[in-house]
Amino acid sequence: MTLVEMGIPAVRSRLPSLDGRPDTPYLVDRFGRTARDLRVSITEKCSLRCTYCMPEEGLPAIPQDELLTVEEIGRLVALAVRELGVREVRFTGGEPLLRRDLERIIAGCHALVPGTPLSMTTNGVGLAHRARGLAAAGLSRVNVSLDTVDRLGFARLTRRDRLESVFAGIRAARDVGLAPMKINAVLMRDTLAGAPDLLRWCLDECCQLRFIEEMPLDADHEWARANMVTAAELLDVLGTRFTLTEAGRSDPSAPAEQWLVDGGPATVGIIATVTRKFCDTCDRTRLTADGMLRSCLFSDQEFDVRNALRMGADDDEIATIWRGAMWNKWAGHGIDAEDFIPPERTMGAIGG
Ligand code: SAM
Ligand code: SF4
Repeated sequence: MTLVEMGIPAVRSRLPSLDGRPDTPYLVDRFGRTARDLRVSITEKCSLRCTYCMPEEGLPAIPQDELLTVEEIGRLVALAVRELGVREVRFTGGEPLLRRDLERIIAGCHALVPGTPLSMTTNGVGLAHRARGLAAAGLSRVNVSLDTVDRLGFARLTRRDRLESVFAGIRAARDVGLAPMKINAVLMRDTLAGAPDLLRWCLDECCQLRFIEEMPLDADHEWARANMVTAAELLDVLGTRFTLTEAGRSDPSAPAEQWLVDGGPATVGIIATVTRKFCDTCDRTRLTADGMLRSCLFSDQEFDVRNALRMGADDDEIATIWRGAMWNKWAGHGIDAEDFIPPERTMGAIGG
């Protein structure tokens, strides 16, 4: 199987150019942005098969020796925080709970950068059994992905009948203090009518709900601009049950626009990734499970830090690669352009 068939870009530039870059330790780019938020994918495996993300059979497995180890993840996270100005780290995947050494990854990072918030994006399946241990290891918060509270709808969308396990995971995480509990829901045509029920459930369970427009990052390549559910459509549907009042963004780099529900204080967030793109305030930098740096979900440009680490690169050398990777970040995605080409890696292989 070729790298492209595995969803892994064939082109991996080795040393990014630093031409014109100002003398700063931080992860700045040519468009005036500074990356402060690190997303670390730790696996391509998953317990669900959401249609907007994974193929039915799952992604091809990354060979074990190509996955970053607990120690390598710790070293890169510590470097990002101590030398590069990263302020927040989020573990993702695939499904992070499928790494049996997840608690060791969290504990290792927490010991190295004790003051830095460490969070995780998870589908919540099996979280109930691990929430306490993860909180004890130093995890600050979790985002759980949940698109519908209808059991059949959930099973259709995720190709697995695991809704009760997700509910249990959310409640257990909240009960051990992994708060605030945020729920992410991708906007899909099949689940749109159930959006008010999902919001009601989240309000009753004291969870902060955010809807996200579907992006062209699905492994099945079914996404089509003409069919996608827009934030505007969602507002119409929620408006049949709730009164929503625009409340702006919590901070300028936060992608979600907040809406007060029935006068507040509860809110619902909407991330209009496609119809109101926010690339000009993006503050993300990404590390894939097999140790590639990416500056954007949609760009195929990757820089191989796993190989650099294993060839004996010191922290200064890794920092230079990372600064260069971000310096060469492009202005933003062109999802709305006629000639848009989705990236080779899909969401599950990058880490959302
Ligand atoms: N398995 C974990 C989960 O589902 O939360 C973490 C990985 S998942 C790739 C991270 C986030 O990406 C989830 O919130 C998921 O809903 C979102 N996601 C996946 N595919 C997407 C797509 N095509 N468009 C928008 N969001 C997507
Ligand atoms: Fe798995 Fe998360 Fe992708 Fe769903 S969105 S298939 S839970 S990685």
